[in-house]
Amino acid sequence: MVFNTQKLTLCSGLKLLVALCAISLLGCSRSDEQGQCNAAPQVPVRQVVIIGIDGLRADAVSPALTPFLFRLAESHGLAWGKIDVSNGRTQQTYSAPGWVSVLTASWATAHGIVDNSSAGPIKVQTVFERLQGSKADSRSVLMTSWKPLYDLVQGRLRSLPEIHHAAFLRQDDAAIEQEVLTTWRACQPELAFIHLDAVDKAGHNGSFDPSDPGYAAAVRETDSRIRRLWEKAFAPPSTQGATPQRLVIFASDHGGVGNSHGRYSDAERWAPLLAISPSGYPAVKISSLVDIGQVSLDFVQ
Ligand SMILES: [Zn+2]
Repeated sequence: MVFNTQKLTLCSGLKLLVALCAISLLGCSRSDEQGQCNAAPQVPVRQVVIIGIDGLRADAVSPALTPFLFRLAESHGLAWGKIDVSNGRTQQTYSAPGWVSVLTASWATAHGIVDNSSAGPIKVQTVFERLQGSKADSRSVLMTSWKPLYDLVQGRLRSLPEIHHAAFLRQDDAAIEQEVLTTWRACQPELAFIHLDAVDKAGHNGSFDPSDPGYAAAVRETDSRIRRLWEKAFAPPSTQGATPQRLVIFASDHGGVGNSHGRYSDAERWAPLLAISPSGYPAVKISSLVDIGQVSLDFVQ
């Protein structure tokens, strides 16, 4: 494997470590999984899908770059919003604190993951544990290609019965897509977090800027990927023949400036957000990153 020098600009030491690890003889693998997304005997009445688009700047959502996501909002009478992922310039705009805030419904002051070097363990319960604690027969899924996130979250979940929570660490977004297309229509979990990382990678390789050709291409590609997931996995009926009432939340963990992020500029701390409730269900209110997990639990519990 040729090591692309551009990849050396990857945001975090952890991401670099993962890349080095994957190409070394250390035995690490970018592909791993825990539990299985088994076919549900019957689909849940309600389901939440959180789609996390890493490093998507708020101004990258547009008819030109995200035609599917833009139209999806319009077709539901909605508009994309944006939220301050830094909690008023108090939480660094890195992926580990950001996504853990989503998945614990708490800020880093509570969950303890302050930057991408925080080793964990996460100090508070994740939404996966809280869901299973309140609904014993529920099932949840985590899919990501970013090993630090997989390790942090799964580090908390070793005691969770494997039939109730499945986690997939995959090579890249294409492999995540394949996993969703393969498993979704039978699995139908109550709660899923699907993390897509290509936009962040493109930002680090070029610039977190919709006018940067590489970044724009990654945003367009991710929009197309989500369209395929929507059309082939989410929209069709499940293999059990019914479709749950589904809340879908699109979120990002940070934007960026130049080829990095972590600080508190507007371009880094404002991230796009869209929540689509099923018809007949009132619009959910999400005004901060930590609302996402709580709204999700409130919906399915
Ligand atoms: Zn990054």
